[in-house]
Amino acid sequence: MSKFVGYRCSLCKKEYLPGQVTYTCSCGGNLDIVLDYEAIKKKYQPDDLLCRDEAALWRYLPLIPVSFPKSGERTPLGLAGGTPIISLARLAKKFGLEQLWLKDESRNPTASFKDRASAVVVARAIEINAEVVVTASTGNAGAALAGMAAAVGQKAVIFAPKTAPPAKVAQLLVFGAKVLLVDGSYDDAFDLTVKAAEEFGWYCRNTGYNPFTLEGKKTAAFEIWQWLSLAKLGTKASSPLTVFVSVGDGNIISGIHKGFKDLLALGWLERMPRIIGVQAEGSAAIANAFKAGNETIIPVSATTLADSISVDLPRDGVRAVRAARETGGTYLTVSDAEILSAIAELGSAGVFAEPAGATAYAGLAAAQAQGLLDPGAPVLVVNTGSGLKDVRAAMQAVQAAPIIQPDLESVKKHL
Ligand SMILES: *Cc1c(COP(=O)(O)O)cnc(C)c1O
Ligand SMILES: [Zn+2]
Repeated sequence: MSKFVGYRCSLCKKEYLPGQVTYTCSCGGNLDIVLDYEAIKKKYQPDDLLCRDEAALWRYLPLIPVSFPKSGERTPLGLAGGTPIISLARLAKKFGLEQLWLKDESRNPTASFKDRASAVVVARAIEINAEVVVTASTGNAGAALAGMAAAVGQKAVIFAPKTAPPAKVAQLLVFGAKVLLVDGSYDDAFDLTVKAAEEFGWYCRNTGYNPFTLEGKKTAAFEIWQWLSLAKLGTKASSPLTVFVSVGDGNIISGIHKGFKDLLALGWLERMPRIIGVQAEGSAAIANAFKAGNETIIPVSATTLADSISVDLPRDGVRAVRAARETGGTYLTVSDAEILSAIAELGSAGVFAEPAGATAYAGLAAAQAQGLLDPGAPVLVVNTGSGLKDVRAAMQAVQAAPIIQPDLESVKKHL
C-alpha cells in the first residue's frame, strides 16, 4: 500500500511513519495522513477513477489509505457513500441563485454522513487486526460504526450520552453493538472512550482523534469533484462552487477540505471550492475562533436541539477553521428556530433532514441575509443526516396534524 506514506501533525508539522503512531501527535495535534501524490499520479488519470465501476466511496480507493474492500462489496460497508446530488431548483429562485444543489448524505446505509468515516475506520481495523472498535458518539458516528462493523462481523462498543435521540440508540442496539449510555455530555463520553480504549486495548474511532475518519469523510469532496467534472459546473461561473457544511467537532468540514486538497495536489481540480461552515448559535466554538481571527478553540457550554453538532470542545477545531479560511469561505451561526424552519423548507422540496443536517441550509439563508452569495456561482449544501433520526425535533418544525371525526363535516372544517 505505497500510497500511504505516513502522518504529518496539523499543528507542529512533525512527521511519523505509518507504524509509528495510532491517533494523535505527541504535541496533542491531529494528524493528517500523507499520501504519495507522485506515485498516485503516475499510476492513475482522473478518468481511471471517474470510470471505475463502483457506486460507493470505494470508487476512490486509490486515494484512500486502506486496501479493503477491493471493490464491489455488496455490504453496507461496501456501499457507504456514493450519495446523490439533487437539484433544489425551486428553492434556488427564493435565494436568487441560478443553481442550488444538495448532496443528500441521509442516503447512506445508516442514514448519515458518518458512514464514510466508519467504513474506512473499520477497513483500517481489519488491516491492523483490531478485535474491538470503540467510539464516542452523539448517535450517528456510533450508528455508523455499529452498522459498518456488523456488515463485516467486527465487534463494536459505543459510548453515547444518555440524551441521544431514541432512533439513534435503537440503531446501535439493532446493529448488535455493545451500547453504554453515559450520564453526561458527548464530551464526557469522548474522554471515557479514550480511557477505555487504552485500558482494554480497543481501537478507537473517535472523531477528531483517529486520523482515518478524515480520510473517509474526504470522499464526499471526491464525489462533488466527479459531479463538477461531469456537469462542467463552476468552470464558467465567475465564482467557484460554494459548499455549505454543518459543523460540530469540525471533522466533516476538515475532511471535505482534505479531499479537495488531495485533488489540487494531484493537479486534478481546477479551482478550490469555497467552504462555508455553519454552527448552531448555542454550540459555536469553531465559529468563535474563526471570527476572532485565530485558531484558539475555547470550549463552550453547548445547547442546541441539533444534537449531532452539540459539542463543548470541538476535537477538530483547528483544521475546521482552516477549511473556511484557506478557501475564502467563512463561518455562520444559526438559531435553533432557524434550523427548524430549514427542516420545514427542505421538507417542502422532498428532503427530510435531521436538525444538524438542515443546519447547512439554514446557513444559506444567513449567508443571503449577509450578502455573501454570488447569484451566478453554483451553491451546494450538504444534508448530513436523515430526519428519521430525530422525529421529536422534526415534529417541532411543523404543525401537528388535527385529529378528526370520521365524517365529511370534520374534513370540511379542517380544509
Ligand atoms: C457528526 C455530524 C455533523 C457534524 O460533523 P463534525 O465532524 O462533528 O463537525 C453534522 N451533521 C450530522 C448529521 C452529524 O452526524
Ligand atoms: Zn504535533
